[in-house]
Amino acid sequence: MHLLIWIWLGVALAAFIASLLVTAPYGRHTKSTWGPTLNQRWAWFIMEAPSPLILSLLFWTGTAGYNSYALAFWALWGLHYTNRSIIFPLRQRDANKRMPLVIALSAIFFNLVNAGLNGWYLGHAGDWYPEGWWADPRCVAGGLLFAAGAWVNIWSDNILLGLRKPGETHYAIPQGGLFRYVSCPNLMGEMVQWAGFALMTWNAAALSFAIWTVANLAPRALSHHRWYRQRFPDYPPQRKAFLPGIL
Ligand code: NDP
Repeated sequence: MHLLIWIWLGVALAAFIASLLVTAPYGRHTKSTWGPTLNQRWAWFIMEAPSPLILSLLFWTGTAGYNSYALAFWALWGLHYTNRSIIFPLRQRDANKRMPLVIALSAIFFNLVNAGLNGWYLGHAGDWYPEGWWADPRCVAGGLLFAAGAWVNIWSDNILLGLRKPGETHYAIPQGGLFRYVSCPNLMGEMVQWAGFALMTWNAAALSFAIWTVANLAPRALSHHRWYRQRFPDYPPQRKAFLPGIL
């Protein structure tokens, strides 16, 4: 299993470099030159729903005896992906937006591998957690980071989704919340959230998912930031991409 994770981390490094060079063409960066497209709301559902399904399949058919810690981590994963696959797409304002099929397919692959590795760990190694794990500093610190990251992610996504009325398609400069400091607090929150999950669950699969999240979202935040600066001459000059005061 560890060899598989090392290989997967090698792919993450390649994806990170590729994403710095070519911005994935969905959302504001969408392009019609990447082949067939599908409705963006459906794409989010089709891309993200396999993740909790695969995680659950491997968790519930595992040997961990449904240890209460592993059970809680399974539930947190499920809650996140219920939002990402159903609630978030339904709240997107532009119901007609399209996404290239190739992006959706690559995201499905990404989700299947990450959920597969994490489901296997929680199902097979989830009984590793010793009595009193909730009070372990790794679990406490990771849990706080997870909660803070998830909160920042959802709060910031709410501000973005509120910039349009239903049916509107324009982009505006987001204000308030952590947008005072960075262009992409939602992406920053997601990176913090999965770093917290890795700390709290203390396993290699969760760590590789946290690294993959940074490999995907750090280049995307840099692209969003450049896009805002090019599009809005009055864009707040002190605002960074995703690390307040730094980058
Ligand atoms: P964005 O910030 O690009 O967009 C989020 C939503 O807000 C979209 O509906 C977008 O519309 C809308 N929006 C964004 N900016 C503006 C603006 N300035 N004015 C008006 N509307 C705006 O995020 P992504 O679509 O890239 O990602 C969505 C979520 O998925 C995020 O929370 C992210 O963290 C998560 N994610 C996680 C990944 C992982 O590896 N774990 C990978 C990718 C995403 P439109 O779509 O029309 O641009």
